[in-house]
Amino acid sequence: MITVKSITDYLETVAPQQLQEPYDNSGLLTGALSLELSGILLCLDCTEEVVEEAIVKKANLIIAHHPIIFSGIKSLTGRNYVERTIIKAIKNDIAIYAIHTNLDNISTGVNQKLAERIGLINTKVLRPLNNLQKLVTFIPPKNTKEVVKQLHNIGAGSIGNYAECSFRITGTGFFRPNDKANPTVGTADQTQEVEEDRVEIILPQHLSDKVIAVLKEAHPYEEAAYYLTKLENLNQENGAGMIGELTQVMEPDAFLKQLKDALSLSCIRHTAYNQKIKTVAICGGSGSFLLKDALAQKADAFITGDVKYHEFFDAESLLLFCDIGHYESEVGTKELLYDLLTNKFVNFALHLSKTVTNPVKYYT
Ligand SMILES: [Zn+2]
Repeated sequence: MITVKSITDYLETVAPQQLQEPYDNSGLLTGALSLELSGILLCLDCTEEVVEEAIVKKANLIIAHHPIIFSGIKSLTGRNYVERTIIKAIKNDIAIYAIHTNLDNISTGVNQKLAERIGLINTKVLRPLNNLQKLVTFIPPKNTKEVVKQLHNIGAGSIGNYAECSFRITGTGFFRPNDKANPTVGTADQTQEVEEDRVEIILPQHLSDKVIAVLKEAHPYEEAAYYLTKLENLNQENGAGMIGELTQVMEPDAFLKQLKDALSLSCIRHTAYNQKIKTVAICGGSGSFLLKDALAQKADAFITGDVKYHEFFDAESLLLFCDIGHYESEVGTKELLYDLLTNKFVNFALHLSKTVTNPVKYYT
């Protein structure tokens, strides 16, 4: 039986909710985690039309990139499209789940999909987060392998393309249990001197509660000795935007034409620029806030959506600043979710929404 929880638990291992921005409202918005699923509809925006599409397709979970509920709702009377969408979903027992900035802030998320559609290679996160921590713990050597294995199993010790990374050195630990202790090694009120492995493992902050819980469970001591410290290292797996390279250097006009064709765009709003294009920064959605990062990393072009008039000036002709439209930059997110879910849940009714939810039309 596949429930809402089966799906959201999996998606949250890929894009943990803790990675969402403070203003965001990702997560389950309507429906119960225990709801048994008949089908899933994937979309960018959950609108009334999308809920109707879900009803027709007998899908009782809608997974949307943008959360339909963003700010507090004090009444539900159907006076605007947000309220009508929620009412329709609830009346029809349809759960709505949003996976928004947490899917933006992973290196395999929205921006990687956009990079693929544009044809960028050698991609990396444009503004990486510094959300890394280091766990140091002290373990009796005979237990080290098992404890470390359990920490690796929940994702601790992954660095880029390397998993199960840790460091250990053997030394001497000292402690004196008091008369209330029930020590695994030694006796109460006597100072102990024991051989221990000092193990160091790196982890992202969002795993820390789980890592400490698993450590305490797996560690043989009554009091697992450990410390957890925040690192200054940047985490190349998490953060905003992406930067990569074209497979060949291009003139700005040729690049714009290729971009328009690759993403089936009606138009591109862009600044004047007359240098060749090789390094390209991107951010799906409203990404103007990353312009300075794109400039600092010497990008020749920066592609995003929702660029305001005055923001175009900030590019100062130092790069080709392109606004391709918010919807257009993120519409590939449906396929991204489809690929993620089909990897894990084979033979399940997954539908890509056919509703075009872009509220912006171009009169050409
Ligand atoms: Zn967006």
